Amino acid sequence: MARNIDGTELSRVMRAEMAQQVAELHAAGVTPGLSVVLVGNNPASQAYVASKTRACEALGMKGQTLNLPEDVSKEELFAVIDRLNSDATVHGILVQLPLPSHLPYKAVLEHIHPDKDVDGFHPQNAGLAFVGDPRAFIPCTPAGILEMLRRENIPTRGKHVVIVGRSLIVSKPLASLLMAPGPDATVTITHRHTPDLASFTRQADILIVAVGKQNLITADMVKPGVVVIDVGQNRVEDPGSARGFKMVGDVDFDAVSQVAEAITPVPGGVGPMTITMLLANTLQAARARVTRSQP
Ligand code: NAD
Repeated sequence: MARNIDGTELSRVMRAEMAQQVAELHAAGVTPGLSVVLVGNNPASQAYVASKTRACEALGMKGQTLNLPEDVSKEELFAVIDRLNSDATVHGILVQLPLPSHLPYKAVLEHIHPDKDVDGFHPQNAGLAFVGDPRAFIPCTPAGILEMLRRENIPTRGKHVVIVGRSLIVSKPLASLLMAPGPDATVTITHRHTPDLASFTRQADILIVAVGKQNLITADMVKPGVVVIDVGQNRVEDPGSARGFKMVGDVDFDAVSQVAEAITPVPGGVGPMTITMLLANTLQAARARVTRSQP
């Protein structure tokens, strides 16, 4: 039976460590501040944004949400970002995705000043991360997965990591981080056009799944002793629960747990680590600002 990798507990430990660094910044007269821009009323986005700002406040950071109407124009949104870019009390800016289709999300993300881009989605940060420059903000989910493997003492050197999905926010940066000197993994990326997906997933020492399809990975698709990181977040109907739905990942958790050595649950796995790394990036942004403003 697989060991559960508890992202909630790892996050609790990491946030306690960060609280100390926040206290040091307070003593220097700085309160790290994160501003989250939320366009429209998507309930899942509202829930994610609320948990991000709550986590900030719990750590002694300032977390604010700017709610903009669904039909906000590109110019109005850019004006809000401009204001946040030049506000010295705001260290991190995040525009919650997905955006309504009339808004050009790439241009919006590029409008955020790279020094405040705590999601790490600006091409400047993506480029810095790709060349291994420590000034980069690393996207929160890949950073959280790396930290999770490190803290769980799961070695990556020489291991074959198979990633399912090729997204810009999770899989591509994750592949680049894992193959870099240090983690030293051998990485295979698969995606929707990969034929015979199981022939790849069965080779994995560490299998990372970021697709958004319930039960995509079944027990016959993994080798015994694999470590499984399930990034997927799927809402499925659950008439028994108060909300009427529950969250599940991309992996058939119960069946794969019989074969794997370790596995992340959904919820309580990668999700809390993502928010923890957002806090870490906001802290990094605030500390960098303090360093820059010193004579
Ligand atoms: P995405 O939604 O941008 O793309 C999905 C990827 O899956 C694509 O690259 C596609 O090629 C691949 N794919 C689709 N069908 C496939 C198949 N049958 N076989 C193999 N590959 C297939 O990806 P994303 O933004 O990385 O999101 C993926 C999932 O991860 C979603 O459920 C999302 O909600 C979740 N997510 C979770 C967190 C977290 O913090 N836990 C963070 C980001 C994303």
